[in-house]
Amino acid sequence: AKEQGKAGHHFFETALDELAQHRRQLETDLRAAIRDGGFDLHFQPLYSLTEERLTAFEALVRWPHPTLGLVAPNDFIPLAEETGLMTQIGEWVMREACRQAMAWPEPLSVAVNLSSKQFLTPALPAMVVQALAMSGLPPQRLEVEITEGVFAANVDKTLETLHALQGLGVRITLDDFGTGYTSLGHLRLFPFNKLKIDQSFVHDLAPTGNAHAVIRAIVTLADALGIETLAEGVEETAQLDVLRQEGCQQIQGYLLSRPIAGEDVATFIREQRAR
Ligand code: C2E
Ligand code: CA
Ligand code: CA
Ligand code: CA
Repeated sequence: AKEQGKAGHHFFETALDELAQHRRQLETDLRAAIRDGGFDLHFQPLYSLTEERLTAFEALVRWPHPTLGLVAPNDFIPLAEETGLMTQIGEWVMREACRQAMAWPEPLSVAVNLSSKQFLTPALPAMVVQALAMSGLPPQRLEVEITEGVFAANVDKTLETLHALQGLGVRITLDDFGTGYTSLGHLRLFPFNKLKIDQSFVHDLAPTGNAHAVIRAIVTLADALGIETLAEGVEETAQLDVLRQEGCQQIQGYLLSRPIAGEDVATFIREQRAR
């Protein structure tokens, strides 16, 4: 038993070593990608049910890794956050998203995700101002998406940043709504322009059942506060029907389109118009 214990211990240490080594390698590769412009943006359309038109595209970052293939954001953003590299990646995403959006017909907007940590950086409003100035994109055509994680920070700090961005004319969406710890008080206190109802509620939608009631409650509440609603992760017509019936204003999801490469956006817009 003693022998076995030792061997087990050894195995565990080796595994930990390998994990640490893998992380170090990934961090090195991330730094190289930042240096060499090794990221891509994909774009997923946002569609207004009330206006029956495309309103925006959400920028979603991709990392084509030399040996690992396409790495999804959920697989490298946490590491980028921990190693302090997210600020630089986020800056690239903001500039590139604004630059590409400038080529789309007006009034199409671009939605850019900001991690909570990134949102709370003192330099964030200045970074946004710079990206807008460099691209020439009107602030009215930029939306930023933040998550409920920002509520963990100091209220004054969050409010200050929200007001700074809105003062520029940039709109703010609360992403993944319903999964975190937003209280009704938060919604009154923080001036969001839009709530993105998390995909989990949308996937649970069935003609009967209480996910339906949850959507209705969110839409009613948002309407009363003058906030728009968008449902994400819409994959089926049946889900769309419920959302329409409950007065949700916008949708996003595979039903309309998966995220597409930047160079395919112009074609997508043209084809939508021809429909
Ligand atoms: P998110 O902002 O909630 O983005 C929605 C995610 O759901 C995207 O995954 C999208 O591809 C996926 N999705 C869209 N429609 C559907 C659908 O109908 N069904 C299903 N099952 N999934 C759908 P993705 O691109 O892997 O991004 C994951 C998360 O990574 C994002 O979640 C966002 O939190 C983060 N992220 C992506 N790009 C950026 C970025 O540039 N900056 C920051 N800070 N975070 C980013
Ligand atoms: Ca988002
Ligand atoms: Ca989301
Ligand atoms: Ca999410």
